Amino acid sequence: MKIVFFGTTGAIQSKDNTNVSFSVVEKKLSILVDSSGNPVQYLKRAGIDPKKLDVLILTHFHTDHIYALPSLIHNLWLMKRKKPLSIISNQFTINKAKELCYVFSLLSKESLFSINWANIDEGEIDIFPGVKIQLFSVLHSAPTSGIKIITSNSSLVYSSDTSPSKEVISRARGAEALIHEASGTLNLEEKLNKAGHSSGRQAGEVAKKAVVKFLFLCHFDFSEGSSQDKVEFEAKNSFQGKVIVPELFRFYEV
Ligand SMILES: [Zn+2]
Ligand SMILES: [Zn+2]
Repeated sequence: MKIVFFGTTGAIQSKDNTNVSFSVVEKKLSILVDSSGNPVQYLKRAGIDPKKLDVLILTHFHTDHIYALPSLIHNLWLMKRKKPLSIISNQFTINKAKELCYVFSLLSKESLFSINWANIDEGEIDIFPGVKIQLFSVLHSAPTSGIKIITSNSSLVYSSDTSPSKEVISRARGAEALIHEASGTLNLEEKLNKAGHSSGRQAGEVAKKAVVKFLFLCHFDFSEGSSQDKVEFEAKNSFQGKVIVPELFRFYEV
């Protein structure tokens, strides 16, 4: 499968980068993970037809992960999308996502494509022949789902926002790739963990324990003086596999 990132920052956007969201493409299936920034623009720029997007996974109801959901649905409706869209998340986030859509009366739009809201707090869904999606709880300040996407020849785990989590290690064990948040540097660990986040070093530790091939870092927050280089360096110190700070709009094969 292929991964393409649209943004890799935490809640605070930078001059050249925005809140973390990405797409996963497997054959004809396309998945968007979280909805921030300008999702339709990003999909188009990545060469993914927004009208054909199969699945949106929402990891949690924090502003930086979900604020563009109304814009995504509004765009797809105006584009006369016909194909149903599956929106997968935990129950809490689905309820909140619907509230967000109600504010703009989006769900009662005439001829709106159908939305299949799928609540999988803990469990697995067969989304496409040969492709399964698992959601599992991680350690954050709101009900938050980590994700595992499994295809016939590869698997990928995304931690979403979390402090170091045993569940992430166990789901990622033997996976090809782990996308793990890395909100700051080693010196900020105590503060980060209290807020339900991890350092680059801790992301590296999780990747090492899970024995993955690739570790993608994201959710960078430089407000407390961390730098991307330092976070990457500290992750590389604890994990001997390949550490990747994703380049936006570049496809990575895993
Ligand atoms: Zn976040
Ligand atoms: Zn969060």
